[in-house]
Amino acid sequence: MTTYVQMFQQGSKEQKGLLGGKGANLAEMVRLGLPVPPGFTITTEACRWYMTHGSAPQELTAQVDEAMARVERELGRRLGDVEDPLLVAVRSGSKMSMPGMMETVLNVGLNDETVQGLARKSGSPRFAMDSYRRLLQMYGRTVLDVDAALFEDVLEEAKKERGVSSDVELTAEDLTAVVGRFQQIILEQTGYPFPQDPREQLRASIIAVFESWNAPRAVVYRNTERIPHDLGTAVNVCSMVLGNLDDDSASGVAFTRDPATGAIGAHGDFLVNAQGEDVVAGIRNTRSLPELEQLMPAVYTELMDIMHRLEMHYRDLCDVEFTVESGKLWMLQTRVGKRIAEAAFRIATTLVDEGVIDEREALTRVTGAQLTRLLFPRFAADAPREAIARGMDASPGAAVGRIAFTTAEVLRLQRDGESAILVRRETNPDDLEGMIASAGILTSRGGRTSHAAVVARGLGRTAVCGVEAFDVDENAGEIRVGDEVVARAGDILSIDGSTGEVFAGAVPVEPSAVVQSLTGEIDPDVAEADELVASVHRLLEVADRARRMRVRANADTPEDAARARALGAEGIGLVRTEHMFLGDRRHLVEDLVLAADEFERGQVLDSLLPMQREDFVGILRAMDGRSVTVRLLDPPLHEFLPDLTELSVKLARQEAQGVERDAHEEKVLAAVRRLHEQNPMLGLRGVRLALTIPGLYGMQTRAILEAAAKLRSEGLDPRVEIMIPLVSSVRELREIMPEVTAVRDAVCRETGMDLATSIGTMIELPRAALRADELAQEADFFSFGTNDLTQTTWGFSRDDVEAGFFFTYRDRGILLSSPFETLDQFGVGELVRIGAERGRSTKPELKLGICGEHGGDPASIAFFHHVGLDYVSCSPFRVPVARLEAGRAALLEEEFTPQH
Ligand code: ADP
Ligand code: MG
Ligand code: MG
Repeated sequence: MTTYVQMFQQGSKEQKGLLGGKGANLAEMVRLGLPVPPGFTITTEACRWYMTHGSAPQELTAQVDEAMARVERELGRRLGDVEDPLLVAVRSGSKMSMPGMMETVLNVGLNDETVQGLARKSGSPRFAMDSYRRLLQMYGRTVLDVDAALFEDVLEEAKKERGVSSDVELTAEDLTAVVGRFQQIILEQTGYPFPQDPREQLRASIIAVFESWNAPRAVVYRNTERIPHDLGTAVNVCSMVLGNLDDDSASGVAFTRDPATGAIGAHGDFLVNAQGEDVVAGIRNTRSLPELEQLMPAVYTELMDIMHRLEMHYRDLCDVEFTVESGKLWMLQTRVGKRIAEAAFRIATTLVDEGVIDEREALTRVTGAQLTRLLFPRFAADAPREAIARGMDASPGAAVGRIAFTTAEVLRLQRDGESAILVRRETNPDDLEGMIASAGILTSRGGRTSHAAVVARGLGRTAVCGVEAFDVDENAGEIRVGDEVVARAGDILSIDGSTGEVFAGAVPVEPSAVVQSLTGEIDPDVAEADELVASVHRLLEVADRARRMRVRANADTPEDAARARALGAEGIGLVRTEHMFLGDRRHLVEDLVLAADEFERGQVLDSLLPMQREDFVGILRAMDGRSVTVRLLDPPLHEFLPDLTELSVKLARQEAQGVERDAHEEKVLAAVRRLHEQNPMLGLRGVRLALTIPGLYGMQTRAILEAAAKLRSEGLDPRVEIMIPLVSSVRELREIMPEVTAVRDAVCRETGMDLATSIGTMIELPRAALRADELAQEADFFSFGTNDLTQTTWGFSRDDVEAGFFFTYRDRGILLSSPFETLDQFGVGELVRIGAERGRSTKPELKLGICGEHGGDPASIAFFHHVGLDYVSCSPFRVPVARLEAGRAALLEEEFTPQH
């Protein structure tokens, strides 16, 4: 028989999964000998049973009865006793804190008879009636689903009739009338009277707490916090202590230190003569904790002492909920307190300075997700603003600029020294230059994995995507909402990529002091003076000492490379060469495709060579002395060629107008037709392209090595690695390798330099991971391309998934987060593990890295550490985050478990 019930004295803080955070910490406080009202916890396992079977497990009733009996014996009072009734609280509490999302029912056990007993026993009919009306109100709302407003209206009326502003001023008679009205509401709304049997109240309250796990707001909360939907909640049944008994009673909440700064000293609020719900509900003005010292000095001293003990025990900031019943203090809850990102860093280093924890432990108290939040500029908190629309929070940050509908407009604004917001229906690879030059990007279509969102996150640009209210009319140069023009090209717009909000005009922005201090834009002495900045630097240093993985950046331009280096990148894990073929150079690719023979193709390649060489000189110079991995050309050909439909229409129109056909365009059209693909992402890309256009990778290799030779002759130390993309078979490598190595050897001979360059492959297709042992025979290193690997493992087309069914999948709990943002550790991750193991079975020293977006994702980095990668490579902006997480991963490696 499964045991679904555990007394508080049986548990401990380690059992959060089974008992929920609240239950586990109540148990821990009992173990510490702190005053906790007796009670027991129904496990999350019971809730999971309830969710799958639609009813509670058979044995639960008997187990609850037995546990109740133990509480009754301990207290010498019984549930439902008409002389001296025991009351209980029925409280939710899951593994992950979900504040205010689920239900709690207080004062269970009161009915028309026991309320009289409570009145006699306490000598306060007012208190008894107040407790009863609270039960009716909470039970009605949460268990019976009665509209809460109906109860609140009655209470308001009663106060008005009496001419008072607070419910404390209502008399026993007033409250008796309120209780009568509440019972009537329940009868009218549900068709049944309020259940008088305390056991029935208990049973139904427990079920209501189970049910509250799937209340819409709880589901939405879990979706945004990425908490799995199948954990379930525990139910804590805790004997009531009565903060509303008299004026020597009170309820409150407190923190062991300042939750914003971490400074020592208790902070909190309380209310005299109140039950705890009143404190958070804000129905009365709370008093601040220091006042408790005057009012109840002994209680205050004891509370301070307990909080100190809790803090020493958890070695962290804790928050507590407490109640005083006639001068006696009771602890009702504690947990390691939630905190905002700024506070997390400050608190961690403050605890080190106080000698409570050491630096390494301090590092485990902060997260990469928190650091990410500190890296973005933000709109000044108190600045006035006017929101005109809202889209998806696609790439965080705050950006202000003039509206530009095209890359050309962005560049023109940039030349005039103005910042631009690139506004488009959706972006495509041709917009890249404009995206790089803009302060922020807004699209009216597409979601968080659209091209705009993905590129913006990679670039560290702010983006708001899918602003559906906006009709973006590039030709008219205006944005409309319905028929109304809300903005024109050149107007100023402010976008908040952390919230998805769009504001008219300029909202003042504050840059991130953390980033400015890391890149040296602010004086280090000034930076040191900022406590937060100092904490971040300190913990990053701890991380750098602790981590085993190196951190590189993905960078395509010298500027990006320099920035990455300033933020701590130890090399470049991915230089994409695609953009070097866009813009003015695009026609050369067209020429390459159209080349009639080897000779013509050779001519085009020759003209590309010097341009490419200069591109690489810039990047290698910026990363001098550190590894730079260049990926040879990868994207689908169609991206370089004119759109099939557009071109056909143009030619057809010319024909209709009697214009003589342009031979060149005819040729282009034929080529576009020939190369047209249904699924370009699965088509002629990467090594496939190289095998179709001989000489292409050779030319790139020559450009790379000649660039390296040039820098070497200047006395610099370029360290370049060449990487072949989209390989699935070792035969592909065997076909292309000779072209690359021949050029390498030739350049070495010509320059008389030993440009010992390693040549590796990307592992970004399932077959490559599975055949990694063979690939390692040819490749000097592997770099996992987890973006394509995710795409091909799931069979998801990246650009289509989020716009399509992603939200359905998320709401149904199939996906917690986009697998393109956070690595799917069990599926895609398994292929990474296999690729790493098989590769190293051939070459034990094989260098392994990852250059997909996941390389900078705080939730994925520990996994890469776990499978033994040598480095992660991510966008420059995320380098500090990756450093921090790689350090944490090393310290926490014992505790690693794969995450869904
Ligand atoms: P939440 O998870 O929303 O904080 P709780 O279960 O902590 O919900 O209950 C809310 C409030 O109800 C508590 O802050 C406390 O003041 C009050 N409460 C809970 N249990 C008891 C109890 N056994 N006796 C008196 N008050 C209680
Ligand atoms: Mg609580
Ligand atoms: Mg790829």
